[in-house]
Amino acid sequence: MSMGLLLLQSCRLEKKAPGEKLLIVCTTGMLGDVVENICGEYADVKVIMGPGVDPHLYKPNPADIRLLQNSDVIVHNGLHLEGKMGEIFEKLDGEKIVIRWSEGIPENQLLHATEDENSHDPHIWFDSDLFMQGAQYFTKRMGESDTINAQHFKKNLELYLIKVNALEEKVSKMIDQIPVEKRVLITSHDAFSYFGRKYGFRVRGLQGISTVAEFGVKDKVELVNYITKNQVPALFVESSVSSRSLESVIEACHKKGHKIKIGGTLLSDAMDEKGKLGGTYLGMIEYNIQTILEGINE
Ligand SMILES: [Zn+2]
Repeated sequence: MSMGLLLLQSCRLEKKAPGEKLLIVCTTGMLGDVVENICGEYADVKVIMGPGVDPHLYKPNPADIRLLQNSDVIVHNGLHLEGKMGEIFEKLDGEKIVIRWSEGIPENQLLHATEDENSHDPHIWFDSDLFMQGAQYFTKRMGESDTINAQHFKKNLELYLIKVNALEEKVSKMIDQIPVEKRVLITSHDAFSYFGRKYGFRVRGLQGISTVAEFGVKDKVELVNYITKNQVPALFVESSVSSRSLESVIEACHKKGHKIKIGGTLLSDAMDEKGKLGGTYLGMIEYNIQTILEGINE
């Protein structure tokens, strides 16, 4: 970005009338919740994709486009998570401050997509260390654009990081209750690789890294063989993906004489409704681990 453009943008953010708040528009609920924690007192934070929405397939509607056009700052995950929105981010970059969260994460910490060595796995919120590097980057970019409030953003981030650490301590004790050989996670699509790396789970999804690609017969046969060979007791559906395909996997396992059940519904690519445990970013982590713990150990 040119220096001139940077100055133009910082002027806009700081020339807001007293009491007038910035409008920050985020794509996913996970981004929106963390952004709210960092800038909530100084900005109106809006989220485009609500509970149960699949970001891989989401196409912005006219109201979303108007909201993006009225925003001061746009925050998106990147790594092609919002597969159908790339064009609009590109179009508005320069006019708005467009912050790509994943830009804050060093490339060597990212996982590759299972089906394509040239692209990266976008599900970075499943590793809070990675996601908080994105939060640091966001806070830095916001501070550069709004120097008046920069210190407040930094302070809020520090307070939030304390909460993140406390939660990770809590969930690591929960994970300790799952025997290592039982740490196998079967889901609809490959959303949980970062989760698996962080908490020591072997993970398998029926579909690849994005829900755009349909799974093939071969994928299903391989998954059924894996489940029966490893005597996996439960698999997990996702709130933002249809459970139909996994039900056919269960049926195929039963035909081979292996009983497997649905262990529960995980929040993979979207948070739950506000007010529920999974309605915040940290609550979503806790909800998922609690659901896996109950589903596997039952
Ligand atoms: Zn996904």
